Formats: sequence, C-alpha cells, structure tokens
Amino acid sequence: MSGKFPCSEWAPLMDGEFRGIWVYLEVYRGEIHEASLQLLSKAREIADELETYVGGVLIGYQVEKYVDTAFEYGVDKIFLVDDERLETYYPNLYGYVVSELCREYKPEALLVGGTMRGRELAPNIANNLKTGITADLTMVSVDKETRDIILIRPPFGAYMLAHIKTRWGKPVMGSVRPNVFPMPERIPGRKGEVIKFEVKELPEPGMEFIDARDIVKAEEIPIEKARVIVSGGKGLGSKEGFKLLEELAELLGGVIAGSRKAVDAGWIPHEKQVGQTGKTVKPDLYIAVGISGAAQHLFGIREAKIIVAINIDRDAPIFENADYGIVGDYKEVIPILIEELKKMKVSAEASE
Ligand SMILES: Cc1cc2nc3c(=O)[nH]c(=O)nc-3n(C[C@H](O)[C@H](O)[C@H](O)COP(=O)(O)OP(=O)(O)OC[C@H]3O[C@@H](n4cnc5c(N)ncnc54)[C@H](O)[C@@H]3O)c2cc1C
Repeated sequence: MSGKFPCSEWAPLMDGEFRGIWVYLEVYRGEIHEASLQLLSKAREIADELETYVGGVLIGYQVEKYVDTAFEYGVDKIFLVDDERLETYYPNLYGYVVSELCREYKPEALLVGGTMRGRELAPNIANNLKTGITADLTMVSVDKETRDIILIRPPFGAYMLAHIKTRWGKPVMGSVRPNVFPMPERIPGRKGEVIKFEVKELPEPGMEFIDARDIVKAEEIPIEKARVIVSGGKGLGSKEGFKLLEELAELLGGVIAGSRKAVDAGWIPHEKQVGQTGKTVKPDLYIAVGISGAAQHLFGIREAKIIVAINIDRDAPIFENADYGIVGDYKEVIPILIEELKKMKVSAEASE
C-alpha cells in the first residue's frame, strides 16, 4: 500500500472496517458549542442511510458532565478522553488525541464545526491521518452501495457546487460553518454508550489558542447568534459610517456586521463578515445597508427571516432578495429611523 504514496509516512489510514459517523464536540465556555450540536442532525441522516451509529468525540478536562447533553441531541456512542493534561486547549494536543481515537475506532466520517478552533483543529487531524478534508461543506450525499460519502460545497461562487470525494484515507473529513445545518431535536433522558479512552503519551504542547474576542468584548453576542443584525457594505464609504449602524443596532437590541468589501477595507473585523467566506447568520431581522447583494453575500443570509435593504441604487440586486426596501442615501435614511425608534421608545416608556 505504501508504494502508492511518496513515502511510507504518507500512507493514510485505509485498512480494516470503518464504521460510524463522528462529530467532534467542541466544549467552549462551559458548554458544547452549538456549531457541534447542529452537525448531529446531518450525522444522523448519513448514519441512518449507511445503517451505522453517530459517534461524538468529547475530549478535555472535566468534560464527562457533557455526556448526557450529547446523548440527548442524538449521539449513540461517546468517545471520551477526560485528562488533566487536556485542561488547556492546544491544537496539536487535541489534534493528536482525536487522531489516536480515529486510529483505534475507525470512523467512516468525522465532521468538525467551522468555529475558530474547529478551523484550526480539523486540518491538524487530517494531516495526522493523511486524509482529505473539505472545508465549509454545505451538503452531503451518500452512495449506499459503495459507502462513498460525497461532501458538497460552493467553490468560487455560489452558482456552482463542487462534489468532493476523498480518494483514499479515512475518515472522510469535513468542516461546517455554524448555522448551515439545523439543531437536532433534543430528547430528554435519551441514553447511549460511553467509551473511555486513555492516551499514554502526549506530544509537547504547541502554541496556545487565545480567542482575541475574549479579550476585546466578552459580552457581545456573536453575529451567528444575534436576532437583529445591522450590516454595512462598501456603500457606507468609510469606517465612520458604522457608527450610525451601531446606534441603530443598539436601539434594536442587535449587533453590527458587514460585507466582505467592508471587511477588506478594514472597517469591521473578519469575525463579523457575513457570507460565503464569512459567517452564515439566521436573525429575525437583517438590515443590509449599502450592500449590493452579491451571491456570496446572499449565501450567508438565506436563513434570515426578514431582510430590509437600504441602498441608493434602486436596481441593486439586494432588493430582489429583500422583504422591504428603502431607496436612498443611508446617511439620510438611518438618522430618520434612529429618530423614529427613539420616539417610539419614549412613548412606550411613558405608557408603562
Ligand atoms: C470566492 C468569493 C467569496 C466571497 N465571499 C464573500 C462573503 O463571504 N461575503 C461578502 O459580502 N462578499 C463576499 N465576496 C465578495 C462579493 O462578490 C462582493 O464583492 C461583495 O459582497 C460586495 O460587497 P458590498 O455589497 O459591500 O459592495 P458593493 O458591491 O460595492 O456594493 C456597494 C453598494 O452600496 C450602495 N451604496 C453606495 N453608496 C450608498 C449610500 N450612500 N447609501 C446607500 N447605499 C449606497 C451601492 O449602490 C452598492 O449597491 C466573495 C467573493 C468571492 C469571489
């Protein structure tokens, strides 16, 4: 087998019977990350088609307490490594442990949430196991006869879809951005099997992961969880434009976000980018200000309930996708909205 590959170290994991659709359960800020739980709905579909089980990988220190949650969201078997040496998240340590679990228990597929950590961890594992990985997949198709798992994602534009088959190596790996798949139904009291695994030796910890958002604004709601988003694009003309958007967002109890052009211009950080190479959001209200409505942007707001567009150009494509549209210069429109909202607040407070 190794003859097929440039050197023996390159030989991927191939021998033996591979079964089980696994999800890496990221524990973040004292809970299993929603992005991981959402993957369990897709894992269940694939597992049912292939008549196999859904596995959950739970690693860290004092993480056994999350086992019940995982079962209730649909995990059949938990692969648990609870080890004091894993108290701090180091991508190379965690990557090593997940790889060891894969070597031992041979899953057919491993899905990882496309969070900040997941995006770092998934390629680390894929490299250890010499298997393929599809980043930001949006769909999965399964061939029951061959047991091929095809991962599907838009490549360089939302008008095409790439169907990616891992030619050799297992597990088939994919990362999925938050909110691409729905949360599975929670069934209280649902139980499964816990498989405890011990890792004798661990590699030296590499660099520590520090989430800059923890340092900057611990309290702010991430855009993928926000119910109201006021989003700005190149049409704002400058970073200053976001100040007006912030004021509007605050009055509506929401957060600000932006298009890729706004991010590229340095007006807003990348973690707030909406779209194909940013985040998928699902707010009740999405206000797009000075955003033209490119396919890659629309991809990120397809789950938004109500879209309001404010644009100076009445032919901007965003209007075709909006529930409500306001044609005008945002510098004139937004102050009017802010003023009206303030009036509504005052009269609501007066009638209390
Ligand atoms: C592989 C790939 C991935 C991509 N991923 C993403 C992604 O994740 N997210 C994303 O957003 N884009 C993404 N893009 C870029 C995308 O194609 C567009 O270029 C981008 O979305 C355009 O941003 P925009 O709407 O802010 O700017 P523009 O397209 O320049 O639109 C600016 C809009 O502002 C309006 N405007 C101007 N002045 C005013 C004013 N005073 N008041 C009101 N309106 C005004 C204009 O009429 C115009 O409609 C990606 C592109 C590629 C190729």
